[in-house]
Amino acid sequence: MERTLSIIKPDGVKRGLIGDVIKRFESNTIRIAAMKMVHLTQSQAEGFYAVHKERPFFNSLVAFMTSGPIVVMVLEGEDVIAKNRTIMGATNYKEAAEGTIRRDFATDIEKNVVHGSDAIETANVEINYFFNTFEIIS
Ligand code: UDP
Ligand code: MG
Repeated sequence: MERTLSIIKPDGVKRGLIGDVIKRFESNTIRIAAMKMVHLTQSQAEGFYAVHKERPFFNSLVAFMTSGPIVVMVLEGEDVIAKNRTIMGATNYKEAAEGTIRRDFATDIEKNVVHGSDAIETANVEINYFFNTFEIIS
C-alpha cells in the first residue's frame, strides 16, 4: 500500500471542481486517508515548492497557490503515486491524455487544477508538510 499527496489547487476550488476531482479518485479504487482545506501563506507555499525555487515560474506559482483555499488530501492505494499522476495527466494540459483531470479541466500550464507527488520520497516529505500522524486514517 502506497500513499501520495494530492492538492486541489485554488483554481479547482474556485471553479467548484472538488467533487469532480474526488470522484475520479474514489472511482479508481483510491482511498482518501486524510483531507483538509487550507489557505497557504506565501512562506508556506514557497516551502512546499522549494524544489522549484530557481525556476522562472516560481514567483507566479507561489502567487497562484496563495490566491485562495486549496484542498489537501492523502491518497492511499496500490501504486497510488503513479496512478494519481496518470489520473491527473501531464503538467501542460495541452499535452495531457484524454480523460485526465488536467485535460478535462485545466485552463493554463500553471492553473492545472491538481498537484500530485511524483515519487515515494517526495510523497513522504509532502504528506508530512501538511499532516501529522493523527490526521491520517489507517
Ligand atoms: N508550472 C508552471 N509552468 C511550467 C511548469 C510548471 O506554471 O512551465 C506550475 C504548474 O502549476 C505545475 C507546478 O508548477 O503543476 C509544478 O511543476 P512540476 O514540473 O512539478 O509539475 P507537476 O508535477 O505539477 O505536473
Ligand atoms: Mg511536481
